[in-house]
Amino acid sequence: MSSAKIRLCVDHPLGPGQSLPLTEAQAHYLFGVMREGAGSRLLVFNGRDGEWLAEVAEAGKRKGSLRCIAQTAEQTTGPDLWLMFAPVKKARTDFIVEKAVELGAARILPVATDYTNADRLRRDKAEAHVREAAEQCGALHLPEVADMTPLSRVLAAWDPARRILWADEGTAGRASVLQRLAAETGGPWAILVGPEGGFSPAERERLSVLPFVRPVPLGPRILRAETAALAAMTLWQAALGDWRPE
Ligand code: SAM
Repeated sequence: MSSAKIRLCVDHPLGPGQSLPLTEAQAHYLFGVMREGAGSRLLVFNGRDGEWLAEVAEAGKRKGSLRCIAQTAEQTTGPDLWLMFAPVKKARTDFIVEKAVELGAARILPVATDYTNADRLRRDKAEAHVREAAEQCGALHLPEVADMTPLSRVLAAWDPARRILWADEGTAGRASVLQRLAAETGGPWAILVGPEGGFSPAERERLSVLPFVRPVPLGPRILRAETAALAAMTLWQAALGDWRPE
């Protein structure tokens, strides 16, 4: 069976004739699950060197290698949009990470807030979700997953040139998010979504006075954190991101 529809995220540099050793998991997936073999063609990317057509050079049960043939897409970087969110339950957090990749986040920054009820986020697992999501959605960029950091520390070190679109249910009834975004320009942005319990009064007070923070409503209903992250990213992409025509 030969197909160039499979997309594999690899760690190695990509270039003409470059040999790419496969991990055990990749070999199992390609040869055990997908029934590919020597000579099969697929697409590979590493988040840095664009996308390449590659061919299976060696196929073993638990190992194998590919060889790069030709570049099929130049490396691109998406919009400079970070997603900051307070991790929630595992499956919902996995969903947020996956959707952040599909919606073109450049960086995923988990933050610990006063009411965050997940004490940690496994960065290695989140990175694996990033790779899988990028393989599936055709992304060339792999968003970096930062370590979970207290929101207060993140804000203390914040570059004021990066505006924060703060999903704030307390702003319901004010100018809509689309009206707010229509008055803004592109450039570096971050979206901030709170945990199940929302933001504490102290956090709300702090966020409200920061000049680079734009509090916005996402409608009259209270959304789950993962819905809010998805909705905010969608609206930002449509208004200021790479969903607009060039
Ligand atoms: N504090 C809320 C409560 O207990 O009533 C719930 C928080 S909500 C489940 C999680 C996060 O999603 C919020 O902190 C906020 O960032 C975002 N969010 C949910 N609904 C929203 C809305 N209608 N407008 C803006 N942000 C919203």
